[in-house]
Amino acid sequence: MVKIIFFQAHPDDLEHKCGHLMHFLATESKENNDIRIASMTRGEFGLPGSQYDKFKGHFLAKIRTRELLKAEKIHGIHSEKIDFFGFIDGFVPFNSEFVNTLVDYLNEERPDVIIAPEAIYTWYYHMDHINTGKALFYIIHKKLINFTPILYFYTSLHPNFLFGFKKRNIKNLTYKLIGCYRTQQWLLKYTMLSYRPFSRFAGRKLHGWKYAEPYRRVYFKKSNLENNRQPLIVRIFTHFFSSLPWTKAKYPQNIVLKLKEKRGKK
Ligand SMILES: [Zn+2]
Repeated sequence: MVKIIFFQAHPDDLEHKCGHLMHFLATESKENNDIRIASMTRGEFGLPGSQYDKFKGHFLAKIRTRELLKAEKIHGIHSEKIDFFGFIDGFVPFNSEFVNTLVDYLNEERPDVIIAPEAIYTWYYHMDHINTGKALFYIIHKKLINFTPILYFYTSLHPNFLFGFKKRNIKNLTYKLIGCYRTQQWLLKYTMLSYRPFSRFAGRKLHGWKYAEPYRRVYFKKSNLENNRQPLIVRIFTHFFSSLPWTKAKYPQNIVLKLKEKRGKK
């Protein structure tokens, strides 16, 4: 039995980044795998503009949680396999509280494989994503846990592992998954514009497949650290993307304070 934990910052991240790999692991080879989902936030602020302020916070979190559960049912992943960390959308920190929370969680779950948002070499510079990937990398790299799970990043600029899928599965699976997120269609409709060409681009190197999901495996042993090295162009792009203001969500202060207060009381 292999234990695999998929980490995400927000409900819906995994659906269009890891949907095909997840589906394969959860259905076709399910006897061998124990799959969990670790969601750092419930996506409390995932609506554009102040006209939606009245829905942001607890209300939106509840709906997006429901959307997530619905999407995971397609993979046959049940709600008891989904863990929420209670961080606030837009405010996932990279600090000792966050690192310690993840250390405790990993010590309890002891996963063999972790799949998480890319921490460094990415075009997706939402700090919730970056900090989630960064904390997991830091924990394994600094040996804050006494085992070494295999770490893969998604949304990497320079993948070294491709998971192939068929064109028809874009319709049969990806669209079904993202269709569960009714509140996120304002953003997902743009994501989906690039989804097919990106997947095709990733699939061009994979023999026998036209489409693929790209991942980057991160290496931790001294003997294979060299594999983490990135080409110059990737490092330049990283620098460029990290300077873009990526997040479109707006954070009305009154709702932020309310959520923080509630979190503080726990
Ligand atoms: Zn996200």
